[in-house]
Amino acid sequence: DQKFKVVVVGGGPGGLSVSSTVSQLLGKNQVAVIEPSSKHYYQPLWTYVGGGLKNFNESVKPMAEVMPSDAEWIQDKVTEFDPDNNTVKLADGQVVGYDYLVVAAGIQINWDKVKGLKQALGKDGVTSNYDADSVQKTYKFLQEFKGGNALFTFPNSPLKCPGAPTKMTFLAEEAFRLSGVRDKTNVIYNTAGGKIFGVDHYGRVLQKLADERNIKLNFQHELIEIDADNHQAVFKNNANNGEISSFEYDFIHVAPPQGPPTFIKESKLADAAGWVDVNKDTLRHNKYKNVFALGDCSSLPTSKTAAAITAESGVLKHNLIADIQGKKVEQAVYDGYTSCPLIVGRNELILAEFSGYTGQPLETFPVDQRGISRVSQFLNKEVIPAIYWNGLLKGTWTGPGLFRRMLDPLRPKRDN
Ligand code: FAD
Repeated sequence: DQKFKVVVVGGGPGGLSVSSTVSQLLGKNQVAVIEPSSKHYYQPLWTYVGGGLKNFNESVKPMAEVMPSDAEWIQDKVTEFDPDNNTVKLADGQVVGYDYLVVAAGIQINWDKVKGLKQALGKDGVTSNYDADSVQKTYKFLQEFKGGNALFTFPNSPLKCPGAPTKMTFLAEEAFRLSGVRDKTNVIYNTAGGKIFGVDHYGRVLQKLADERNIKLNFQHELIEIDADNHQAVFKNNANNGEISSFEYDFIHVAPPQGPPTFIKESKLADAAGWVDVNKDTLRHNKYKNVFALGDCSSLPTSKTAAAITAESGVLKHNLIADIQGKKVEQAVYDGYTSCPLIVGRNELILAEFSGYTGQPLETFPVDQRGISRVSQFLNKEVIPAIYWNGLLKGTWTGPGLFRRMLDPLRPKRDN
């Protein structure tokens, strides 16, 4: 059995942003990353892939290529945590010890919670950008679509990138206009939520745009079944005593139910909801002081995005490295920064940036970012991917906070 100074669980953006910096600092054989997958996905690109604006290949790299060279990659799954003995257990039975543990294993997609979805996915107009295979079908189905009902769903659970289902709706609506079928198409967005977007500052703008584009929204509608044989999507209306209704579909994009990974939920690290129970300011575990978490699997009450991880990773690394070096310094504090690049057309984007803790905008640029912007679309589609691969994963990009503070004097007063 092996032991490392720092063990990182997960080789997504959360795990790599931390392990790259810490392994560089400590040198070889000190930091292990436990990650089963041979591929690393830049999932934020998947909305563009679904919309036919980017190639899927641009969202994938071999894990070996992005793994920090000074870190030890253990290609296996963690199955159990034993934080009382500072060890984790792997699928192959091996036990790995640590002084410090960082958990970044992402969110689990619970396809089975919608009856018939798993079997229907990727066939006959049923798709989801939340899956590496079916995201490659979305644009094909949009091109084949000849009119009828195009349905879009939003689950009754936490999810990564809560804006992604809406973005796909707007991109599809535009695709139908461009292919000349819009006038024979109903674009219907059925969300289990009560509004189009959680943060009203941006939600109001988005709702107005949906109205202008004749996108029909049904709130409190939770997808519970896909009946692929009859092209019916079945919804439960949670506002109306769980009333069941069926919608015929010719195309359906599903944002599936999600939740904490089972191996975390069943462990001593979990809070009541199943997420890694960390302090929302310091990212340190509330009970086990040598354990940290960031990203989608953490209990941090902000929206789950790679953008949030940029800021989270800076805070986590500050606090972890101070511990490793035995320095008594002031703890860094996370402000809940997250961002949702709301793609509303091929060349249109509303760059929502806010604190998930307060709902207050935390915009980088000294303009009102609620306006539709071509420049923001270019930034998100062409520039941010490069920052992700070359900055965030290498541990050198910890978010736009510094720029925001530098640009603060130029910022117009907000009306909110
Ligand atoms: P992940 O990236 O999911 O990585 C988790 C890693 O842990 C994986 O590599 C996995 O293999 C590994 N793992 C799982 N189980 C175990 C285990 N038992 N043991 C060891 N390792 C394990 N974010 C944005 O910022 N902007 C966007 O525009 C945006 N759009 C999105 C659109 C879509 C369609 C999707 C799906 C996501 C989008 N996101 C966006 C969200 C973003 O991709 C995630 O928030 C981000 O990837 C979370 O990073 P993470 O490291 O926490 O988890």
